[in-house]
Amino acid sequence: MATYEHEVVIIGAGPAGMCAGMYAGRAMLNAVVLERGFPGGELLNTEVIEDYPGFEHVLGHELAQKFADHAAKFGAQIKTGVTVTTLRKRDDGMFESITDGGDVYLSPTAIITAGGTPVKLGVPGELEYAGKGVSYCAICDGAFFRNQTIAVVGGGDAAAEESDFLTRYANKVYLIHRRDELRASKILQKRVFENTKIEPIWDTVVEQVEANGEGLVHNLKLRNVNTDARRDLPASGMFVFIGFRPNTGIIEGHVQHDSMGYLLTDANMMTSIPGLFAAGDLRAQLTRQVTTAVGDATTAAIAAEKYLKALRDGQKEPKIEGTGGYTA
Ligand SMILES: Cc1cc2nc3c(=O)[nH]c(=O)nc-3n(C[C@H](O)[C@H](O)[C@H](O)COP(=O)(O)OP(=O)(O)OC[C@H]3O[C@@H](n4cnc5c(N)ncnc54)[C@H](O)[C@@H]3O)c2cc1C
Repeated sequence: MATYEHEVVIIGAGPAGMCAGMYAGRAMLNAVVLERGFPGGELLNTEVIEDYPGFEHVLGHELAQKFADHAAKFGAQIKTGVTVTTLRKRDDGMFESITDGGDVYLSPTAIITAGGTPVKLGVPGELEYAGKGVSYCAICDGAFFRNQTIAVVGGGDAAAEESDFLTRYANKVYLIHRRDELRASKILQKRVFENTKIEPIWDTVVEQVEANGEGLVHNLKLRNVNTDARRDLPASGMFVFIGFRPNTGIIEGHVQHDSMGYLLTDANMMTSIPGLFAAGDLRAQLTRQVTTAVGDATTAAIAAEKYLKALRDGQKEPKIEGTGGYTA
């Protein structure tokens, strides 16, 4: 068990955390990025990225490595295999990030970039074929399924909206739901029912995802929850939208969030806890992409630098130049 002191502690080395680390490094701040796994975040679960400017086609793990190298080049220290279990602000204004190994990282500012976790179905083949036909992101992966038959699993707003979106690419979208009606808002339901490319499959769950000889998804094994009747559904893709949980549980004490648990920030990415900034997928915002994650992180790191300067200047409640105001 050891205690470390930094000017900024960044939690999570996905695109947001590595970008924040890079900017903190360029600002010559004594920063550390704590990552429970390997640097990359969701990029490591993504086969190909085609919508990051400057890269028409880049493998997820290659982009992750480029981010890590770039951050390291400017002096960012990324510690891997370190899970932060508690993040709290002490009465003396210092943040304490406590790790699973019992180490304590003290810092006057912290940036949380811990992303979120798509809820999984938990069926055989799902994780094995993630990125090989199984996806949790329509805007990211939809274009890989042009003129194909795919399935969407879920019954809420995300499942309805993304089914409709995916018909831009797919010939046919089966919407598999374990109940006999959608939970989605009426307007989204209307869109689904009016879209002739979408066919709902009610009262049904996916029991297994099967791949062809090339390791790509080609069949889903379904079960009707009322009759227990089983059947095959040939499909080259399965998009799962049964929930997404922001990884904010480590924050001790109240921090403002929206109804889904995403963190609310002001325009400088500062949360309702002064000195705690948030960037990337765990922040309440319209969309969650690599571009938005690094955009948030740029602002957060620069704002953290200004916050530190204001602290050094003796301001008790540091003010950062900016528009302020909370946004969702
Ligand atoms: C299948 C899939 C495909 C995608 N495809 C695209 C695409 O084509 N284009 C695009 O722009 N976006 C895509 N996205 C979205 C994109 O990957 C995310 O928006 C982006 O990764 C968000 O970055 P982030 O840094 O906020 O979070 P993440 O990438 O989730 O990184 C968070 C990091 O924090 C770490 N962490 C979490 N909790 C802790 C803790 N307690 N202690 C220490 N470390 C912790 C995690 O291990 C992780 O490394 C895709 C997402 C998925 C799931």
